[in-house]
Amino acid sequence: MRVKTLKDVDLRGKRVFIRADLNVPQDETGRIVDDTRIRASIPTIEYCLQQGAEVMVTSHLGRPKEGACTPEDSLAPIAERLSELLGRPVPLIEHWVDGGFTVQPGEVVLLENVRCNVGEKKNDEELARKYAALCDVYVNDAFGTAHRAEASTVGIARFAPVACAGLLMAAEIEALSRALEHPKRPLVAIVGGAKVSTKLTILKSLAEKVDQLIVGGGIANTFLLATGKRIGKSLAEPELVVEAQAIMDMMAARGSEVPLPVDVVVADEVSAFARANRVPVDEVGPNDRILDVGPKTAARYCDIVAHAGTVVWNGPLGVFEYDQFAGGTKMLASAIAHSEAYSLAGGGDTIAAIKKFGVEKDIDYISTGGGAFLEFLEGKKLPAIAALEARYDG
Ligand code: ADP
Ligand code: MG
Repeated sequence: MRVKTLKDVDLRGKRVFIRADLNVPQDETGRIVDDTRIRASIPTIEYCLQQGAEVMVTSHLGRPKEGACTPEDSLAPIAERLSELLGRPVPLIEHWVDGGFTVQPGEVVLLENVRCNVGEKKNDEELARKYAALCDVYVNDAFGTAHRAEASTVGIARFAPVACAGLLMAAEIEALSRALEHPKRPLVAIVGGAKVSTKLTILKSLAEKVDQLIVGGGIANTFLLATGKRIGKSLAEPELVVEAQAIMDMMAARGSEVPLPVDVVVADEVSAFARANRVPVDEVGPNDRILDVGPKTAARYCDIVAHAGTVVWNGPLGVFEYDQFAGGTKMLASAIAHSEAYSLAGGGDTIAAIKKFGVEKDIDYISTGGGAFLEFLEGKKLPAIAALEARYDG
């Protein structure tokens, strides 16, 4: 995979259009809950400024309706945080598609929510050409959106005079390729989170590649169901039991069993006040919800991680947002942190868990991508990366 990167390009005095992924979680009042993605975008912006470029940055935020944006869709809170982090003003430009604004060399502006533009999502060619006309250099630094073919991630890359990967994009490609192409064995994947349906393809593709596959969270419940366990009122997808069984068969055919929970933490509700009980997996009652793996199970998973050469992690093992159900995820996070294995993690909630347990520094690479991270691991060619590859000219 070859793409031009930012450092290969002369930026002095150039109009540089950076597509970043500044799509951060916000609370009801619009306050930024976690600014990881903004921070991750800073190095590219700073580099362009230092090189004396006229810098324009844009991103999507949430899922606005194209052509009908509301104040909640505005990047205003992002502009404010960017300005704090860069230590300089970051004016927000509305209605920017047809130009009509100026940027000085060594200055940066933020262009309002790119998904407000009609045609963005369906990668409209006319819109992409307009974006391209704004710049001399297009920089894609939005790894988190690389799996979507939109006008600002794919279309513009065709028409801009130069198209290259930003520093974050380049780092993501390099770290993920390393884990996939020549992984140190055994390669262990942990896939947790809420639902099998959202992760079925990744589960199947990992089942073809990895030496051990660990499932957790709501996903494990569907696997338990497939093996005939009673799971009470737990979150599960009975219609996917067949798929879960197929994944276990794939691993078994290669001599590896998918280790399922032997003990679990249950409660009758998902809340901060829920009373948690630890029970063997065969003693889950009809009104119980399985909300975490038990300590025996976690210890078994941690042992597998301790002997791994490479660990890929996406998805928490339980409802880690509440302390009663955080134990399994916490133990796993710590095992990954202490393991000698090259460790790679990604996913919005996975990153939140990693932060909650304070192990960011001990994980070799934390991807900013959720869906993009998963699709990359599936071995899919991400459209935004393919668009940059198509412009590679040595
Ligand atoms: P990521 O964002 O890292 O890809 P997901 O979005 O797939 O992860 O899943 C995270 C969510 O799964 C969390 O909000 C967590 O509370 C939930 N979850 C984990 N285990 C369970 C469970 N046993 N029952 C219900 N929800 C669960
Ligand atoms: Mg999530």
